Amino acid sequence: MSTLIIEGLRAAVDGSEILKGVDLEVPAGEVHAVMGPNGSGKSTLSHVIAGRPGYEVLGGSVRIDDVELLDKPTWQRAEAGLFLAMQYPTEVPGVALRDLLSASVRTPEDPAEIGERMRIEAERIGFGSQFLERPLNVDLSGGEKKRNE
Ligand code: ADP
Ligand code: MG
Repeated sequence: MSTLIIEGLRAAVDGSEILKGVDLEVPAGEVHAVMGPNGSGKSTLSHVIAGRPGYEVLGGSVRIDDVELLDKPTWQRAEAGLFLAMQYPTEVPGVALRDLLSASVRTPEDPAEIGERMRIEAERIGFGSQFLERPLNVDLSGGEKKRNE
């Protein structure tokens, strides 16, 4: 079981400090909702955690267990277990989810094995396996797009 640990996170964008010492712990399996008025920094927090360019980290730490994420590029944060879901998932006509996932696997794997992993995951989240063959997010409902991610 992993835990995402944010401690004293401070970050600025365009010269003004938006995050002024954020502390948050999210153990695996828990859902936490961050709420606040428009412009209070919720999106900034998720972007800084994910390593989106354009933000200046002024202090603090973001770890998954003992692994510090703030000094890593985004792809290494993803390898450590982080995923930033889009508010509005992108539709990609012509690219099936199955092809996207197969291309995303970094180590060569038996294609049959990847297919089996997809089938098991789809079943786990109650996602019909026909979605694996459909173009990414095209004509999916809002809820289906979220589970697709
Ligand atoms: P929330 O998601 O809570 O509505 P944001 O994190 O999007 O808030 O924005 C927090 C503040 O940071 C806002 O005042 C916003 O205008 C400012 N901000 C966010 N991104 C930028 C940017 N790229 N350049 C300048 N200001 C930004
Ligand atoms: Mg926002």
